[in-house]
Amino acid sequence: MRKPARRKCKVCNEWFLPQYDNIRWCCPAHGAIYALELRAKEKIKAEAKRIKAQKEAEKEGRQRRKKRLAELRPAGYYKAQAQQAFNAYIRARDADLPCISCGETNPPDLHGGQWDCGHFKTVGANPELRFEERNAHKQCKSCNAGAGKYTAKEATVAQQYEAGLVARYGQEYVDWLNAPHEMTNYRRDDFIRIRDEYRAKLKELKRQEAA
Ligand SMILES: [Zn+2]
Ligand SMILES: [Zn+2]
Repeated sequence: MRKPARRKCKVCNEWFLPQYDNIRWCCPAHGAIYALELRAKEKIKAEAKRIKAQKEAEKEGRQRRKKRLAELRPAGYYKAQAQQAFNAYIRARDADLPCISCGETNPPDLHGGQWDCGHFKTVGANPELRFEERNAHKQCKSCNAGAGKYTAKEATVAQQYEAGLVARYGQEYVDWLNAPHEMTNYRRDDFIRIRDEYRAKLKELKRQEAA
């Protein structure tokens, strides 16, 4: 057997000549101390492993509960989320445009600085156009509430909306909106899909703007 080279004791750091290759301590007393140290290290390792496993189990539990909760939620919950995501996208898409109805570009003084997403054909009368991008535009809160800047009559606000659409996109665009459309039958999964789609579209829009 090859004669072991001298090495430093793990405990006192003094040089010594080990009897065997696996000896890391200069004397039995330091060997005992070193063994304690190794055991302590292993204990820490085992504890770290246990904590990690516990955290993972808790995370899995949270995900399971979240999934179960999602399954319990009614379709209306996702419909509202889809509408919110769609509206947010429309507002961002039209960020540089004025209110489609009254043409106002600077409503902060007028309406508290918040814009709405207004539907041309109302979602009540035309639910099939609820998530139709051509039917939704950035609108000031006042116009969306049916009380335009220049008039208090809702019919006239709608007419202003139509005039705004013609001016921006042309008569054909409005004719298409006024024509009949295929009825939709959205289910819970559709709302989730629409929500995710518009969240992604908004994200992409913001990414492009930042670039
Ligand atoms: Zn030693
Ligand atoms: Zn307006």
